Amino acid sequence: MRYYNAYKYFLVEKFGEPVLKIPLNGGFSCPNIDGSKGFGGCTYCDNEAFSPVALSTDDVLQQLERGIARAHYRFKKFIAYFQPFSNTYAPVQRLKELYEPVLQRSDVVGLALGTRPDCFEEETFHYMQDLASRTFLSVELGMQTIHNHTLEHINRQHTADECYSVLSRLYPMGIENVVHVVLGLPGESKDDMMATADKIAELPVHGIKIHQLMVIEKTVMAYQYRKGDVPTLELDAYAELLSEFIMRLRPDQYVHRLMAECREDSGLIAPLWSMNKRHSINLIHNYFAQTRLRQGSKCKSQFRML
Ligand code: SF4
Repeated sequence: MRYYNAYKYFLVEKFGEPVLKIPLNGGFSCPNIDGSKGFGGCTYCDNEAFSPVALSTDDVLQQLERGIARAHYRFKKFIAYFQPFSNTYAPVQRLKELYEPVLQRSDVVGLALGTRPDCFEEETFHYMQDLASRTFLSVELGMQTIHNHTLEHINRQHTADECYSVLSRLYPMGIENVVHVVLGLPGESKDDMMATADKIAELPVHGIKIHQLMVIEKTVMAYQYRKGDVPTLELDAYAELLSEFIMRLRPDQYVHRLMAECREDSGLIAPLWSMNKRHSINLIHNYFAQTRLRQGSKCKSQFRML
């Protein structure tokens, strides 16, 4: 039984077979790190811990070829996934230099771009529209929460409205809108997190990547955690929140990720169940089975995608 709408089913339906996303580092920065918006980034941010390619300085085509070579026994189609930092944070000419060569490969069936809502110029939207007319384009926006007080607390340096605005611009272009959210952000109650789920169900959002809050060494949050200011979630509490969150999403929305993964040698401090993804996912799935989770069963939204 399918308890929720996993993204892998969407990919098989769309492309006729499983498709693998290959993470790539395009050498971007982030306006919340380089001083345009702020220094130091979001309080929990450590791209090296979050992305396997964060340290790669190789040409993106080389990275892509390596990723495909590792997976070609199991996959024949790939999505080039520009993952770490903010992958629309550059002039359009630079975006073209990075994106266009990977699209020349016949086995690359699409492009996925992880970014922030404040990294879109008017020209960027025009280029996104052009790309979407030629390939499958998925834009992953870091939303994290709909609550501006939390966004301020974690130093995101953008508002929830900026996120809604980008989603509404990309949606009519036929671009897949994906939002990243974090459960367990400091100061957020269960009701706050469920309000985020309810709002996402009302937005032109195709997919959601859900993460537990992780505390990583050398971040502001590590300092706050050691002072006792940031609690993290036990796995059973996370499974319960996750289940409630998914019940509030629309049945047509796809769940791209149920949890994040990180290792202790990459700086993970807490929660330690983040290290053993297979085991944790099994426990989460068991919880879904026991509670007979059904995505959308608590959805209040009337929104219908075109
Ligand atoms: S927006 Fe992303 S890359 Fe930039 S500081 Fe925040 S978490 Fe890090």
